[in-house]
Amino acid sequence: MAALRINDQQREFLAFVIARDPALTSLTALVTEALTQAPHPARAAHVRTDPLTAAHDRADPPGAAHDRANPPGARLRDDPLAARLRADPPGAHIRADPAAIAHADDNPDRAEPAHGDAPHPNPLPDAHVRDEPVRGERVRAEHVLAPGTGKAVEVRAGEVLTVTQILGHQCVDLNVFTLADRHERLHVGRTRGIAGTHPGAGDVLWSNTPWERPIAVILRSTARTDTTFPFCSRLIYSAFFGMHGRTNCEQIQQEAQREYGLLPWEMHESLNLFMSTENGVIQRNTARPGDHIAFLALHDLLMIPNVCGDDLTNCSNFGLRPVRVTVMAATADDHETGRRAVARAAGLGLPSPAPFRRGGAMAQRSPCSGSPADPARSPADPGRSPANSARSPADPARSPADPARSPADPARSPGDPGRSPADPARQGASGRLDPPASLPAAARLQRDPAYVPAYPYLARLATIDVPVALDAARFAEVRDFARYGDDDASALRDIVLSHAIDRLGAFPGNA
Ligand SMILES: [Zn+2]
Repeated sequence: MAALRINDQQREFLAFVIARDPALTSLTALVTEALTQAPHPARAAHVRTDPLTAAHDRADPPGAAHDRANPPGARLRDDPLAARLRADPPGAHIRADPAAIAHADDNPDRAEPAHGDAPHPNPLPDAHVRDEPVRGERVRAEHVLAPGTGKAVEVRAGEVLTVTQILGHQCVDLNVFTLADRHERLHVGRTRGIAGTHPGAGDVLWSNTPWERPIAVILRSTARTDTTFPFCSRLIYSAFFGMHGRTNCEQIQQEAQREYGLLPWEMHESLNLFMSTENGVIQRNTARPGDHIAFLALHDLLMIPNVCGDDLTNCSNFGLRPVRVTVMAATADDHETGRRAVARAAGLGLPSPAPFRRGGAMAQRSPCSGSPADPARSPADPGRSPANSARSPADPARSPADPARSPADPARSPGDPGRSPADPARQGASGRLDPPASLPAAARLQRDPAYVPAYPYLARLATIDVPVALDAARFAEVRDFARYGDDDASALRDIVLSHAIDRLGAFPGNA
């Protein structure tokens, strides 16, 4: 007997698939069928989906060289938390009766694992782990996000938020708001339109109308991102998987943002980190332990990453794992990278983000501050004066009387040497970049000191070892670690669940 290592909500899904088809009499029958139909690695090599080497709109996508130089698991031994989690995977292990899966619909208690009354199946030894890998005085905050959770993190202008893989293969959804005004947030569509479907290192994150300005820069990325798939939600699992009441990014994100009073409908389309997509389908997740994506905040931001709750697609290779989030001060090199990214993306005359203006956080810290070649930093530019840094609730950038927005604004005058007269966006205060004077007052985001996290469905993530009869020889033939993951348990889980999803035939998004 082998063991199929899944969680409780995956067990419920397999029971649903089996119960729908009279031809499937047991979980073992489904496993046998999955192994029989799994592609043989040698024969499947020509169709193997490896998004880091596949043809793409980037000749050499971010992370490709890194991935080639860092084979699977290469860094695992360097990460003590990863080693601990390997030795003691998330969730309690209980043995499940395979008959209970085959006939789960007859069992009203199937949704509750043996330890369902446990207060919190948090697999991590501590909520905050500080033993690796990013140390030093620059680290201001560090969080390890358990599966099924997220975290609203304040990131000040000039700070860097980094999301790092601990075990690898984990998709992370990201929402971003400006702290000064809850109405201004990341506009994934605009970012996609300017940076492409897979923003990477050196790309800018843009905010929504009427601001439409750079709010962050991707400083470094060793992995893929995606802007084409909306967050996973209750709708998706109900419509395409027949499942209700399971982890999903919609509810995880809404719970995380609740810490700052953001309401459910204020959640925006997600920027999907460590997610590989091509042509509208989800590829398997190639992120390795230590892979990371780092963002430089250009304004004071509330950044809300959440561990994607999806364990039924290739998104996170049918598993949910913790990730690490750190906030640290940017280096001078980071400032310069950010300045160049903004200049490249918005160098034709957009207002420069406050941190880059004279007197702004980065202008003060960056050794390149005030470079004569950079019109956005020119001391002669009156539109960049410290008085225009404009981040308080009483933001003068919103006042009709704001001289930076007035028709007489020399920063917008055709005479401004940094602004070409040919660019209509630079012609006067009525240009499309001017927010309307009738904007309501800015609504600053503030943490609710009474907030207590209440993530749903955490008890459903307990790991269960379900005994199954297995053709070991066939499994040895098809357990293609490059395709399915790094160990036997990951490979078997992927083979069985991906087959069950194909068999159900409702979800077209997996590659
Ligand atoms: Zn998700």
